[in-house]
Amino acid sequence: MTRATLDTPLVGVVGDRTAKPLERAFGMRTVGDLLYHFPRRYSRRGELTPLNDLPVGEPIAVVAQVLDVRERQMQRRNGKLLEVRITDGTGTLTLTFFNQQWRGRELLPGKRGLFAGKVSEYRNQLQLQHPEYELFENREDAPGGDQLDEAAAKAWSETPVPIYPATSQLPTWTLQRAVELALDALGDVPDPLPDQVRESEGIERLGRAFEHIHRPQHDADWRAARDSFRFREAFELQLALLDRRRRAGLESSTPRLAGTDGGPLARFDAALPFELTGDQRRAGATISAELAEPHPMHRLLQGEVGSGKTLVALRAMLQVAEGDGQSALLAPTEVLAAQHFRSIVEALGPALTEELRPVLLTGRMPAAERKRVLLALVSGASRIAVGTHALISEGVTFLDLGLIVVDEQHRFGVEQREALRQKGAQPHVLAMTATPIPRTVALTAFGDLEVTTIRELPPGRQGISTFAVPEIEMPNRAARVWARSGEDLAAGRQIYVVCPAIAPGEVEAGAEEPDRGDAAGGDGRAPETADTRRLANVEETVEELRRHPAFAGVVIAGLHGGMAPDEKDRVMRGFASGAIGVLVATTVIEVGVNVPNASIMIVRDADRFGISQLHQLRGRVGRGEHAGLCLLMTTAEAGTVARERIDAVAATSDGFALAEIDLELRREGDILGTAQSGGRSTLRLLRVAEHGPLIAHAREVAGELLARDPELTGAPGLAELIAKDQEAGLLDNLAKS
Ligand code: ADP
Ligand code: MG
Repeated sequence: MTRATLDTPLVGVVGDRTAKPLERAFGMRTVGDLLYHFPRRYSRRGELTPLNDLPVGEPIAVVAQVLDVRERQMQRRNGKLLEVRITDGTGTLTLTFFNQQWRGRELLPGKRGLFAGKVSEYRNQLQLQHPEYELFENREDAPGGDQLDEAAAKAWSETPVPIYPATSQLPTWTLQRAVELALDALGDVPDPLPDQVRESEGIERLGRAFEHIHRPQHDADWRAARDSFRFREAFELQLALLDRRRRAGLESSTPRLAGTDGGPLARFDAALPFELTGDQRRAGATISAELAEPHPMHRLLQGEVGSGKTLVALRAMLQVAEGDGQSALLAPTEVLAAQHFRSIVEALGPALTEELRPVLLTGRMPAAERKRVLLALVSGASRIAVGTHALISEGVTFLDLGLIVVDEQHRFGVEQREALRQKGAQPHVLAMTATPIPRTVALTAFGDLEVTTIRELPPGRQGISTFAVPEIEMPNRAARVWARSGEDLAAGRQIYVVCPAIAPGEVEAGAEEPDRGDAAGGDGRAPETADTRRLANVEETVEELRRHPAFAGVVIAGLHGGMAPDEKDRVMRGFASGAIGVLVATTVIEVGVNVPNASIMIVRDADRFGISQLHQLRGRVGRGEHAGLCLLMTTAEAGTVARERIDAVAATSDGFALAEIDLELRREGDILGTAQSGGRSTLRLLRVAEHGPLIAHAREVAGELLARDPELTGAPGLAELIAKDQEAGLLDNLAKS
């Protein structure tokens, strides 16, 4: 018989009756699919699982011992109930079987086994109804019988038993048996990892690692196998990202040479009312040099809110405009696109505006207006386009698109960046984000981009003080919030009030919020059910503040994603001009909005937002000559994770420190994994939050390999893997989440 490979269809190895449910439940088709389904944990035959803390309503698998068996006649219906109590030595759990008396003949007191089912509670007693189980062979029944020596007995009781992610149709031991068939049938597994890397990193051969992770004799076996697989995962991912970056570097694009005297950039710089900060100058020099290269730039510019990234981007656009090239600035919301457009026009001044003809393109523009804009772009008359997703849509054509700037990069997926890239001949790409990204996440999610960081803020910023306002514990402080607001308004300042909902029961929705999870839960956290408590909302807050004596005579307006674009625009203009004193809004104002006269940011139900959102929101104040104050109102109790997030934001204004804390507080760990659908194109053992050093190390090793052998001719298995991953869209999945 020919031996199976990882690509052998499962049917031939485990049979139709197991192969079908495996495909249905887990989408498995090949031996490799099955072997990459790793155990969730390991139990031991000799060690009973504690039964005192089982989660009701959840599927479990436990090692336990039968305590006693009882049979009784059902009261209300015909039939007999078999009740089998199992124990871990202290607690008990009852298994119930209806009209299956024969089970009493095998579930004998003293027998040990694995029991699986969903835990339910009946009269204060935990039970499993009609559980699946598999009894262990008695030690005496094992080969060698009761002559087993002590060492063998010890080995029997200590052998790790793999517990697999399972379903009720496919309990863990069915998976285990299928895996064993697959392992037995498996021939030599070619190892994609070059020997040299394997040896220097102490990584097990692939075939051996499969054996060890599924059929360990000792804990050390599966530990070594798991570490090996984890390294492989990190290594392959980094190799793919570095390879993508290397290929991108080989593409050729039009060099956009640095500005000449008298050119748009030189004139712009000469008219600039302030000095560039050191970081702005350094970032600008790096970008300028890359634009002049005959290869496309792929750079991520990250920097604190208000650090002046937009200015750095605008200067890059001016360099491109010098050679008559065009630039497109992609913003995540209409509000932000409109604001970028206005501030660009303002920064350029009348002469440069006349010359470069910047245009704004959003989804809901009148047809005639849209036509005019499209014409300006296709003819090359306009050299700067600012817009939302509308820029990506069909029918938008550029004469010579040289640079794409993506603002708030985390709001966009790689494929959107790609779609825009298709509109030019290898344009340069500058992505910007004010959401600081921990290094390891940057390596993983944006591993194909070079990163530049701006840490320095423009001089003269007054700083922002942030306080948590626990409404339940400190009702007086909550009352102070509005009084304090009145004082700032009287002094001529302006105020933001942010709410998680638009109206009672209506969480922010609509085109403004492509990142839907953010509106209520922040960072993709599932929002609690909307009806658990009435969330602070824009409509009611506007009414409440209009009646409040502290706001007498002040114009108060609401702003949210459900409003028509021109309505939103009118409100934003009103706030920017100072005519509106208090802006009550949803997170539409989260990013980029710039009104230097605003001094207080109040966030209601702040526990509804993620750390990076709160940090972004507070960045809306303290942007001018007045010190900023950020008040995070909450009813979340001390000690909850929600409160921890708020307290962390109040405790530090360092966005990079917050990004790390955020990563830690996401106990689920894998922030990259959540957005993915499952299947082979996901991370299995790697957790970005936990395995940072491993990821960084794997990147180094991958870099060294690529430096020695850029085309991977010496490692054809790896070359193939990378090609497969690219195809499966693994990288796109990662970068999107
Ligand atoms: P970011 O996009 O990084 O949050 P912006 O580019 O919107 O920040 O800049 C915030 C504000 O700071 C803008 O009003 C901008 O004009 C101003 N600004 C930018 N650079 C400087 C500088 N070097 N000195 C003074 N003000 C600056
Ligand atoms: Mg910005």
